[in-house]
Amino acid sequence: MAYGDALGKPTEFLTVEAIVARYGPGGPRDLEGDPALVTDDTQMTLAVGAALLDAAEPTPAALEPLLRERFVAWAHSPDNDRAPGMTCLRACGGLDRGLPWVEATVAGSKGCGANMRVAPAGLVPGYDLDTLAGVAQLQAAMTHGHPTALAASELTAYAVRLLRDGAVLAALPAELRERCRSQRTTYRGDWLGTLWQQPGVATPADFISRGWDECADVLDRLDLALTRPDDGGDPCAATGAGWVAEEALATGLLCAIRHAGEPVTALARAATTSGDSDSIACLAGAFIGAERGMAAWPAPWLDRIEYAGQLARLGRAWD
Ligand SMILES: [Mg+2]
Repeated sequence: MAYGDALGKPTEFLTVEAIVARYGPGGPRDLEGDPALVTDDTQMTLAVGAALLDAAEPTPAALEPLLRERFVAWAHSPDNDRAPGMTCLRACGGLDRGLPWVEATVAGSKGCGANMRVAPAGLVPGYDLDTLAGVAQLQAAMTHGHPTALAASELTAYAVRLLRDGAVLAALPAELRERCRSQRTTYRGDWLGTLWQQPGVATPADFISRGWDECADVLDRLDLALTRPDDGGDPCAATGAGWVAEEALATGLLCAIRHAGEPVTALARAATTSGDSDSIACLAGAFIGAERGMAAWPAPWLDRIEYAGQLARLGRAWD
């Protein structure tokens, strides 16, 4: 996912036309610089990963302070100069002041910032599916309180988990759709507390079902897009620009599934997008990496990527 982040970093705020003018029609296919810099997506993924690694047990009580500590440290880091998301900065400000997370979070935000950092939750061995769901949703909820941010983050972590356990990319849309159906009214109160109590929301199930329904809708768009071959155009035209969580998931999946046999092409296509290119390419990379492991990627990238040591530490911990 860091490789996707690095390829998408220079293209995030460019149009497809400008990306093609700079890199050719194939898009960016090689890391730039040594180290090849990543964005807040990888920085926050490392924060989540470190918290999960440090937690003595995967419970809300154990994880919340560790996530808080790592998020606040990220917010204060001098390296936090990679066009970070406003939602994360705002929520981290509240977390830093000691507010309960349900007050610090940006309740109405479903920006993709909680989704692009959740992949490590899908790699931790030993989580049962309820724990996986709780961890994925809590790490999202601490900054992005919208139900769609929670559901999309769970789907991303679930997808990584399925792929790590041997599923193939092409099987994911059906599996994720079934997850939307089975989880539609499941509010994880032990992890989320009173988050559901928002204006206009009648019950916890009412709250969370809005998120699962939006994810199911974007999976419909993904299914439709996958019936057609890649036309070489902007993947965001089919499944969304990815600034919001469910679209980042769908467009990342679209690029990964269409080009599952050509990992670098999948990242290049994900980076050649009009929308949130680094986050879309992050997710595409996370899915392909979970399916195929490090052998998917050009070997010279291993030492060139920024934070190579910290990334390798997480990889080794959960291999
Ligand atoms: Mg970013």
